Amino acid sequence: MSLELRGVSVRYGSVTAVSEVDLSVTDGEVVALLGPSGCGKSTLLRAVAGLERPAGGRVDWDGVDLAGVPVHRRGFGLVFQDGQLFPHRDVAGNVAFGLRMRREPAADRARRVGELLELVGLAGYERRRVTELSGGEQQRVALARALAPRPRLLLLDEPLSALDRALREQLAVDLARLLRETSTTALVVTHDHDEAFTLADRVAVMQRGRIRQVGPPERVWRRP
Ligand code: ADP
Ligand code: ADP
Repeated sequence: MSLELRGVSVRYGSVTAVSEVDLSVTDGEVVALLGPSGCGKSTLLRAVAGLERPAGGRVDWDGVDLAGVPVHRRGFGLVFQDGQLFPHRDVAGNVAFGLRMRREPAADRARRVGELLELVGLAGYERRRVTELSGGEQQRVALARALAPRPRLLLLDEPLSALDRALREQLAVDLARLLRETSTTALVVTHDHDEAFTLADRVAVMQRGRIRQVGPPERVWRRP
């Protein structure tokens, strides 16, 4: 169970957003992509998700090349900065979305939704309208939705950065615990050193499309 990137490059016209990146994420590991705005973090994550087609290199899962495997067939969960919940569905409807796609029986679905809401600290929220939730609650729902189908890899793009500072710190701690309790393998994009430090087993520091350094947070950690 591992993601392996070899020599991955992504270009937008004449702009090389990601340049010859090598990176692996192994079973149960949480890896953060850390770096300033515009350094290519999101583009790299999108290439892993299948939302961008690399101009060069390979993205493999368990040794199998993912080129040509569409987004919904990769078995990855996605969470973006602003949750992107379905506004016309209640909390349970959002969390169950991926389960319904897989045609799980309704009773199993309901049980799983309950488990997930408990896991993200929103027990009993099934019938709440997502538009009436706070930003932090909405991100918890987005996480529960992404985790519901038990993705083999969770891809998080600045999952907390739309929130205010205090809430972000609290949610980073909660998210770190959640990922460990569920043994979730994850690749998380962040521009925030503290967040990377809290969440990740390893941090890949990006600069101008390249990975400059990879290691445990305490080794790549530099106080600004
Ligand atoms: P980060 O996530 O680190 O902020 P991005 O991956 O969003 O960085 O962007 C990396 C580079 O690619 C930037 O120079 C950005 O302007 C460029 N870029 C990103 N998305 C597009 C796009 N859709 N079209 C053209 N250029 C893009
Ligand atoms: P498609 O049109 O590719 O078959 P689906 O039927 O799987 O799409 O999904 C319907 C809509 O829900 C699409 O707009 C898709 O982008 C969105 N969607 C699918 N899966 C997710 C998800 N895990 N998180 C957020 N949005 C999703």
